[in-house]
Amino acid sequence: MPEVKLPPGSTIGILGGGQLGRMLAVAASRLGLKVHIYSDEANVPAFDVAAESTVGGYDDEAALAGFARKVGVVTCEFENVPAKALEIAGREAPVFPPPRSFAIAQDRLAEKDFVSGLGIPVAPYAAVDSLDGLREALSRVKTPALLKTRRFGYDGKGQVLIHNGGEAEAAWHALGGMPALLEGVVRFDREVSVIAVRGQDGEARFYDVVENVHQGGILALSRAPARISQSIAFEARRIAGAVVEALDHVGVLCVEMFEREGETPNLIVNEFAPRVHNSGHWTIDACLVSQFENHVRAISGWPLGATGRHSDAVMTNLLGADVEEWRTLAAEPGTAVHLYGKTDTRTGRKMGHVTRLFPKG
Ligand code: AMP
Repeated sequence: MPEVKLPPGSTIGILGGGQLGRMLAVAASRLGLKVHIYSDEANVPAFDVAAESTVGGYDDEAALAGFARKVGVVTCEFENVPAKALEIAGREAPVFPPPRSFAIAQDRLAEKDFVSGLGIPVAPYAAVDSLDGLREALSRVKTPALLKTRRFGYDGKGQVLIHNGGEAEAAWHALGGMPALLEGVVRFDREVSVIAVRGQDGEARFYDVVENVHQGGILALSRAPARISQSIAFEARRIAGAVVEALDHVGVLCVEMFEREGETPNLIVNEFAPRVHNSGHWTIDACLVSQFENHVRAISGWPLGATGRHSDAVMTNLLGADVEEWRTLAAEPGTAVHLYGKTDTRTGRKMGHVTRLFPKG
């Protein structure tokens, strides 16, 4: 991949127009860079803050090529971007992160094979392509186990819990008979994640490990730093470093892990996301340089920014009707309110977040 060095005034192309694209655009603007958002939907959150926007399908060759010709680099703010879209854009402009990072993260089986191939612990797993295959997998991966679709799963969607072998058939049909992965349920004390950023020159930096609370499969809260020992925090960052290095990744990447006190291994990787991540939103308010700015810096060939935190932080997502409390939250001292400009409030939809800052412990 050619080296990209974009001076202020240049334009970054972003595939996807959700809140992650919006926060990337705001970070880019602080550095004097502009963004051009490409989305398959109109009226998306990032359009409000973009210098230019295009509505087009991710299979629209002419629209994608026209968009990519107008920008200095193309990046992506959602994980399930079609490989074809990256390929078309890649003919006209450099693409960071490298498409391979997306290809692996989009397929739970490829992801597990990749991570375990690096010698990093993952949950026991087996590929499942048929009901008979599921029965066979259940003889190797002990119950309770989760049957997860290989592709297009997020926020806990596309997965079914299997308590015993008798539930195999119902589980297989519940997922619509799609290629899947059977994964042993891991007992854990905490879910933690590490946000890493890697530059085009291979330099990698890491934010403090955070602790995440999910509700109904959706991230509810992230606490920075995680209440874990220094040695486990060190190991978590080492694992994230091994992943970005092996991918030759450029940009931000988040590795999600299960932490188990007093057990071996202490950390088990669940998955990684080759993009800015909800569990890194706290970095906007608690760090000098946020995950969004560092992603922009990495893909634009700027020096990476400081990842240290100046405050402890608790980030809480505003899901669905939570956002109606915006006025009360805005009056709270020590609280930063971030709203994504979404007008349609649906249950569980990420409408915004708040970050509460505390003196560094
Ligand atoms: P995922 O879609 O893989 O991120 O899973 C969503 C959530 O389900 C995770 O954040 C965990 O809370 C839970 N989960 C996923 N896989 C496992 C596992 N193997 N063992 C225990 N909990 C899991």
